Amino acid sequence: MNDDLFEKLKRIAEVERDVPLSTMTTLRIGGPARYVVYPDSTVALDALMRLLKEESIPYKVIGKGSNLLCSDREFEGVVIRLDKFDDFYFIGNDLIAQSGCSIIALSYQAMKQGLSGLEFASGIPASVGGVTFMNAGAYKRSMSDVIDSVFVYRDEKFEWLRNEECEFTYRHSIFHSHPDWLIIAVRIHLESAPVTEIRDLMESRRKRRMDSQPLDKPSAGSVFQNPEEMPAWQLIDGIGYRGYRIGGAMVSEKHVNFIVNEDHATAEDFLALVNEIKRLVKEQYHISLHMEVERFNW
Ligand SMILES: Cc1cc2nc3c(=O)[nH]c(=O)nc-3n(C[C@H](O)[C@H](O)[C@H](O)COP(=O)(O)OP(=O)(O)OC[C@H]3O[C@@H](n4cnc5c(N)ncnc54)[C@H](O)[C@@H]3O)c2cc1C
Repeated sequence: MNDDLFEKLKRIAEVERDVPLSTMTTLRIGGPARYVVYPDSTVALDALMRLLKEESIPYKVIGKGSNLLCSDREFEGVVIRLDKFDDFYFIGNDLIAQSGCSIIALSYQAMKQGLSGLEFASGIPASVGGVTFMNAGAYKRSMSDVIDSVFVYRDEKFEWLRNEECEFTYRHSIFHSHPDWLIIAVRIHLESAPVTEIRDLMESRRKRRMDSQPLDKPSAGSVFQNPEEMPAWQLIDGIGYRGYRIGGAMVSEKHVNFIVNEDHATAEDFLALVNEIKRLVKEQYHISLHMEVERFNW
């Protein structure tokens, strides 16, 4: 890859060079990305994807970076940011939102319209693209409960996929097996409800998060999926790792399934802590923990 690529990218979209991934992730960890592009239309996106394919350039879409553990090394490819895909509109009880929208902002917009369904997502610091990819959820609700359909770019075509076609399961979707597909927008179905009722529910959930999560420290949310046998936090507490630290990465005192970037943590610090927890939990409880946070560029 060279400056020839930079010139080609510039013709299609706004582009930046050598941007630390640590500035694009909520964990504040990650080495530089060689190029970051910000397409602002479906036409630009199509041109970009064709160029990357023609030149066999690796790429990665990053939303709000709230579920990513990026390595400390350089990503020698193109990061695609869909921040400029930030339009949304309401049609009756449905909300159509582009993938760069913040799900927190959208849940407040829905509340103002007297539309219920996104209260569970009102504290998830993520993009519409990211929550759809992950089928993010909380309080026993998840995106698949409200998504009607997803507008996707795949095989050089734009098309709508119905909810049933997205193969949503716990924190998983069809998009995991097709990292080359792009989520462009979603259609979300909501129900009418009194604004005060929706606001009160969101407010009580906000307080609950403030009380239980270390929101003042960089993190990627819950690190491990909850195994069927026992919640992950109980297992981590069981091995005595509350507050345990490796380098700059620390198991949160407030929420043991969060690992926070306490002080200039490296990706290696974070992963060493993850691996140690997995090993000890396996030894003590014979249970395998699986990371919910995605590793990128290792
Ligand atoms: C404080 C905190 C609290 C959290 N609470 C919760 C919670 O309650 N529930 C929960 O489920 N999660 C939670 N998370 C985790 C995280 O917010 C979710 O996993 C979220 O879905 C990630 O969205 P994102 O926009 O940040 O995606 P990113 O982290 O940027 O990306 C995640 C994956 O989605 C892919 N992706 C993103 N956008 C697109 C797109 N447009 N097209 C194709 N692929 C795309 C990326 O390539 C990547 O593979 C929390 C995280 C933090 C930091």
